[in-house]
Amino acid sequence: MILVSACLAGEECRYDGKHNLVEKVRALVEENQARIVCPEEWGGLSTPREPAEIIGGTGEDVLNGRAKVLTRTGQDVTKEYIQGAEKVLALAKEIDAEYVVLKERSPSCGSSMIYDGSFSHQRIPGEGVTTALLRKEGFKVISEEELADLLF
Ligand code: SF4
Repeated sequence: MILVSACLAGEECRYDGKHNLVEKVRALVEENQARIVCPEEWGGLSTPREPAEIIGGTGEDVLNGRAKVLTRTGQDVTKEYIQGAEKVLALAKEIDAEYVVLKERSPSCGSSMIYDGSFSHQRIPGEGVTTALLRKEGFKVISEEELADLLF
């Protein structure tokens, strides 16, 4: 069993109420090979919600208290991001997830790139908060782009 970002399976849980459907991911869920997770909703944030970015570092820095997650208007949602990550980690442990497929570039789910905190679409190398926590605990996290390489 694997875990996948809910938005990749077609759930409308993105900050703007839309999804990021990847048909193969939806098929894995329908075939009961994958469970969906949305760390931002699981951390208590509503949908739609204000976009947020990591300010001053990466997901690992957020976990270590060296960076924060702020919305565009400056609301601190660091606590919600960490709570959501912890819930995803609990499920990953419960089902002993073989690997986890998360949406690239998200401040929660990004696995190799995130936005730089300027809300100007600038990307930097780094991972989101949930990805950082899962990897710290030994889980393999890949993006939807890497999943395509794995399956086809
Ligand atoms: Fe939820 Fe992650 Fe998708 Fe954002 S990228 S909507 S946190 S599953």
